[in-house]
Amino acid sequence: MNKILYMVVPCYNEEEVLHETAKRLTEKYKSLIQRNLISEKSRVVFVDDGSKDNTWNIICSLHESDPIFSGIKLARNSGHQNAVLAGLMTVRELCDMAITMDADLQDDINAVDEMVQKYHEGYQVVYGVRSARKTDTFFKKFTAESFYKFMKIMGADVVYNHADFRLMSSRVLAELANCREVNLFLRGLVRTLGFKSCNVMYERAERFAGESKYPLKKMLAFALNAITSFSTRPLRLITGAGLFMFVISIFAVIWTICVKLTGNAELGWSSTVCSIWFIGGLQILALGIIGEYIGRIYEEVKQRPRFIIEEFINESDDMEKLSQSSKGL
Ligand code: UDP
Ligand code: MG
Repeated sequence: MNKILYMVVPCYNEEEVLHETAKRLTEKYKSLIQRNLISEKSRVVFVDDGSKDNTWNIICSLHESDPIFSGIKLARNSGHQNAVLAGLMTVRELCDMAITMDADLQDDINAVDEMVQKYHEGYQVVYGVRSARKTDTFFKKFTAESFYKFMKIMGADVVYNHADFRLMSSRVLAELANCREVNLFLRGLVRTLGFKSCNVMYERAERFAGESKYPLKKMLAFALNAITSFSTRPLRLITGAGLFMFVISIFAVIWTICVKLTGNAELGWSSTVCSIWFIGGLQILALGIIGEYIGRIYEEVKQRPRFIIEEFINESDDMEKLSQSSKGL
């Protein structure tokens, strides 16, 4: 029997691109079904992440015109990572494999063939990796690549230049459901699950229409979340810096005593002022970093639902399979 593929597409104010995305996905699905690579029961699930525009109405009309399209409406804007998770957790019992893809057609739909092929070869996770960033602006390219490099220095295991375009088998999704963390960083999380995985290269295109929903502020929050969710190295760096300063201070004390004994005590004004600023700055920075981690712990212990599904429209015979697990995980 052919395997069921569910494509999870998070959408936040994407009215300008949805029709085109739907058109291209229909063509892709038709060809995959024709070639017996996926089952006819395969679906595309658009997750409306609390959009303020016409996105949900478009999803509903797409569903009415073609049952291949399903929709999940989140009760509010929960962020890209939570929207992806909401989709995955909802469909995990209905599919054999799921692919997550952005709505704006930046991820190359043609890479889906190879991903599905890899699944049939026995891979449980297939990462879509960007081979080039020709279409990105210098700023986007620089910030994104620095992010991957910085994550590596901070000790988090991520696939270089892999965003959230990836295939996962239902086996992997079942394990993902056991991870209850609120501060989500899916690319790191999926990597920690293990399983047989491989990369598929693709060229990242330009956004088809509309604007990026990831302004600098969201990007920074995302990077901070990624680091604090996956690495305690910053805390260790603070300890290292503290130790270093302690050693320096021993020398400083010896030096102060020497200056005092030679009768030149007033000499130290600039060094005192410099150390006050330096140590003060370092302490505040250290407190800030520790505060970030405490903030994460605070959010984790509250265990609030990571997303709330308001509505799910889907045409499938297996609807009764839909487990409780998807309800606001
Ligand atoms: N997105 C979302 N919720 C948000 C922000 C973005 O679901 O709060 C979706 C968005 O609709 C898109 C994907 O996440 O499908 C990636 O966003 P975008 O293309 O704006 O990011 P960029 O490619 O510029 O990093
Ligand atoms: Mg994009």
